[in-house]
This record gives sequence, structure tokens and C-alpha cells, in this order.
Amino acid sequence: MGLDSLISGAGRKSSAGGCPACDGGEKTVQFDWKLASDAPDSEFHIYTQTLVEKKPLKTGFFFECPHCEQSWYLDSKRERMSLIPLPKSALLERWNSSPLSLTPDLFNKCREIGATPAHRSSAERNYAEVPCKVRTHQSELLDKCLLFFKGYPPLGDFLKPLRWADEITELHPSDYSLPFPVRFNTSQSQPDEKGRCLTRVTSVNGLSFSLNWTVNFLDHKGVQGKEIRLNSGELKGKKVRAPILTEPMKEITFFMADWNENARQLLMPKPIS
Ligand SMILES: [Zn+2]
Repeated sequence: MGLDSLISGAGRKSSAGGCPACDGGEKTVQFDWKLASDAPDSEFHIYTQTLVEKKPLKTGFFFECPHCEQSWYLDSKRERMSLIPLPKSALLERWNSSPLSLTPDLFNKCREIGATPAHRSSAERNYAEVPCKVRTHQSELLDKCLLFFKGYPPLGDFLKPLRWADEITELHPSDYSLPFPVRFNTSQSQPDEKGRCLTRVTSVNGLSFSLNWTVNFLDHKGVQGKEIRLNSGELKGKKVRAPILTEPMKEITFFMADWNENARQLLMPKPIS
């Protein structure tokens, strides 16, 4: 989605004359609040003089433009200011309304499955994700779920409605999710000259695949993620025809949980038992 479509969907009352926060300088959906506050000659400095802090949220702060009522979100470190598009207002309310946490039992299930960090090329450090099979309060059983822990409201775009950690009653390993060592390797993959980040893997039946960027699930011509292994040493040098697979985003149901010190523990190496 382009910046213009985000802004035009943001529900401004009027753009006649505009306001410094929404119409001044470059149109923007995000800027460095700290930098803009500290530098009077910054193009965004006037935004810091205009936007009004309205209330603290679960993490971060809710701001509003007094002229056009455009909503903005400032992160808990007061560094990054983001425009809240009008269609995201309800999501923000739901996210803010209660802690999105797991029971100790469900949390242990996550630990057993193994959480991976954001891709190494991402700036996101406070993030973990766990592929799983989920049963919800509504008794749905969903095979390909990605439970992610994040300390920031969901302002990005999702292919399907976002679900919430407090909807989960059971959490199990999914047959379609890749084993932890494979997933971890995809999160650490390096870009090649074509901009791909490939991780070579094989199925237990000897089929080869290249996983592109972060991949959690595999469901390809009858092969399931659980059957996949990292390439053994002797295969690495050989030229093997291998389909390139990316994360099957459309098939995944995303569940959001809060990032906190508990979630950080998920990324620690498992204790030796
Ligand atoms: Zn405004």
C-alpha cells in the first residue's frame, strides 16, 4: 500500500489548508519523533509542535492532531511516530484492551516447539514467532498458525483478519511446520546477488527444496514441513534442482501476543534436560 492511499484512507475531516501534522512537508506515515523533536530545522519538527498526546496505551502513547483528529502512535521509547490509518483504529482498540498473554501451559508448548527471531536483515529485535496448530475458544482447529510476540500495535497490513493470543485454548506442533533448526536457519539466511535468501533443505524421502527468506511452513505436493531437514554436508556442494518456496502467507492464520521479558525467554537456548 502506498503512502497516499494510507493517508487518504485516514479519515481527515478536511484537507483545505491542511494542518502541519498531516499536510505539512512530505506526506508521511512514520517518522523519527526523537530526531524531529531535537532538530528545529528538521522537516518533521513542526509535527512535534502540533500533535497532542492524549493517553498512554498498553505500550506507547496515543496522539492526535487537534486540527483534523488524525490519530498517531508513539512507541514506548518515544522514538518512532506512526500514523494510525482509520481502518486500523478498531485493531488498535482491541490490542490495547487487554494483555495478550498465554497461560503457563500454552507458553511451555511454545518453548517446546521453539521460537525464532525476526529475519537477521530486519531491525526488529523484540520479536519472536512460533508456528503451531491452534484450537480457539470458538472450537476451531487451525493447522497453520503463526503466533507472534511483538511489543508494538498491529498497524501493518495482514492478508487475513488478525487473531489474538487470548483466543487460544490449545496449542500443538503442526505437521506442516518446519523443525526448529530449519526455521532458525531461514531466519539467519543471507541474500544472494538476486536478492534471494536461500536455505537448502531436503525431505526425509530425498526431495530438495530452497526456502526463500524466513519460512515456517511447508505443504508442497504432499510433503509436510515436519519431514524437512537441513541439507547434509555432502549435498551442499552439489547442483540439485530444487523448487524455491516462500512462506505460504495466504494459508497462515496470524495470532498476536504481547512481547515481554517472558517472550524474550522463548529465544534463549533451551536448558539441557
Ligand atoms: Zn491534522
